[in-house]
Amino acid sequence: MKIVETVKQIREEVARARKEGKKVGFVPTMGYLHEGHASLIQRAKAENEFVVVSIFVNPTQFGVGEDFETYPRDLERDSEIAEQAGANIIFHPTVGEMYPLGYRTYVDVEGITSKLCGASRPGHFRGVTTIVSKLFHMVKADRAYFGQKDAQQVAVIQQMVRDLNMDIEIVPCPIVREADGLAMSSRNTYLNPSERQAALILSQSLFEAQGMIDHGEHDAGKLGFWIKENIQTEPLAKIDYVEIVDAVTLEEIEEIKGDVLIALAVRIGKTRLIDNIRLEV
Ligand code: AMP
Repeated sequence: MKIVETVKQIREEVARARKEGKKVGFVPTMGYLHEGHASLIQRAKAENEFVVVSIFVNPTQFGVGEDFETYPRDLERDSEIAEQAGANIIFHPTVGEMYPLGYRTYVDVEGITSKLCGASRPGHFRGVTTIVSKLFHMVKADRAYFGQKDAQQVAVIQQMVRDLNMDIEIVPCPIVREADGLAMSSRNTYLNPSERQAALILSQSLFEAQGMIDHGEHDAGKLGFWIKENIQTEPLAKIDYVEIVDAVTLEEIEEIKGDVLIALAVRIGKTRLIDNIRLEV
């Protein structure tokens, strides 16, 4: 497995693979890889002969006071995990390579980017859609793999691909969890032992909510209220949002019916965690 740092190199490597008739799968990440990322790479490898993994902590998707500087980075460990999972190449550009002096162009998806995470992280999705567009132009993959862990990101990217007629298939992949239910995240490394325990309130609330729906609860208002109350029983938890929405439009719903997304963002100490479940009711 190769690691390249420039746009020129990644273009050449992908062009060579294409010339050999290979389908190209792409997994964009910010690194500090875990089994969630590995599952995306494995899926990409199962469906494409050539798999590109990008590792880039993208400054434009971090707000002021967020964790851009402290975001965990470990390229050596990442390359082992990526190679093991089936990656053919890692694209690991510098910030200067992606945003050279005089950079001026941004991609903005309207509406669905201002809700949920977009409400508490203004500008976040503008950074995401900009970097993903740039990467799509560089990598020219047939398919790109995204985790349902970031459910809003999937919806926003799908909207962008539709709206801008991008010739790429977006493949959403299921959330990979720790044995006790916590959704895997590079940010889980920020948690101390008591916070790690407290963080279980996210998945536990979602699983119980799912059970209540299975037992016939269809009132989104009631269920949302119950989830909030339940999260508040954990002293270390501070709710950012709890939303029950249509999984495609992210519009709030009153009745739990159709393609439903229950999404939450909760601060455990200083760490902001997100989790969700998507259900067909
Ligand atoms: P990140 O490095 O956090 O930007 O994530 C890169 C990709 O991995 C995104 O598409 C995420 O949704 C996905 N991902 C992160 N955590 C998980 C997880 N626990 N399960 C599945 N996919 C994940």
